[in-house]
Amino acid sequence: MSLTAALAYARHGVPVLPVHTPDLRGTCSCDRGVRCDRPGKHPRLRHGLTEASTDPRLIEMWWTRWPAANIGLRTGIVMDVADIDSAEGWHGLTHLLGGSLPAGPRVRTGGGWHLWFRPTGFGNRVHLLPGLDWRGVGGYVVAPPSRHARGGDYRWVRRPGDEPPGVPAALRALIEGPSPVDVVRTPIAHPGRYARAALTAEAERVAGAPVGSRNDTLNRAAFALGRLVGAGLLDPGDVLRELDRAARFAGLGRVEVRRTIRSGLTAGRRMPIDAVPGRTPLLRA
Ligand SMILES: [Zn+2]
Repeated sequence: MSLTAALAYARHGVPVLPVHTPDLRGTCSCDRGVRCDRPGKHPRLRHGLTEASTDPRLIEMWWTRWPAANIGLRTGIVMDVADIDSAEGWHGLTHLLGGSLPAGPRVRTGGGWHLWFRPTGFGNRVHLLPGLDWRGVGGYVVAPPSRHARGGDYRWVRRPGDEPPGVPAALRALIEGPSPVDVVRTPIAHPGRYARAALTAEAERVAGAPVGSRNDTLNRAAFALGRLVGAGLLDPGDVLRELDRAARFAGLGRVEVRRTIRSGLTAGRRMPIDAVPGRTPLLRA
């Protein structure tokens, strides 16, 4: 049954690879057995994904050797896959797409769903939303009728027809954008976002500064933001406008505010923040 399905995927142009199989208790067929941290989800072949094939003779050979092998399908060629592993991921994606999910091919997995889409050309992305990953170029998914470590089989909710649906714009923007994980680890790698956040934070600090430290706070803010202006990450007009509004809100006088902002900005622009070496996104944002 597993071989028949594997051959059918291959006939539709999807490269197939044999994957390890969990037993009824969820123990992996690999050498690590109960200690395996990805039971039933990792390739049986030494070179893994790179050996995935549409060659029926090869596929028959593999499934003769491992008749119960789970079926891995290479993504990024015929389809990309939205990999939802929780109810939270389901609700998050549904909300993102305006209340309903596209009526494309859909697989029920152990604890979630796989939604098939036309390939985007992008690679894998993790944590697009809580409970949502993306499998694209260089990735693979486990497909029906494979067995899941949590018990039960991967099964079709809706089988593939002619061609999977295209990726909706909102989802595509998420795939193209910076990963939230990257932002947390290296905020400066996405400097446009970082700079806008800095502008908001500094303006709030100025607006809330207590009497006696207002002018000093304003000066520091103008200097810090001037460094971002100097690096080309913020528009000086935006900084002037935001800080002016915040400082006036704090109760500072107009002439004093302008003078302080200009002097802080000028000094900051002479010391632009450093580009992080080797990080091209800094130049693009
Ligand atoms: Zn294993």
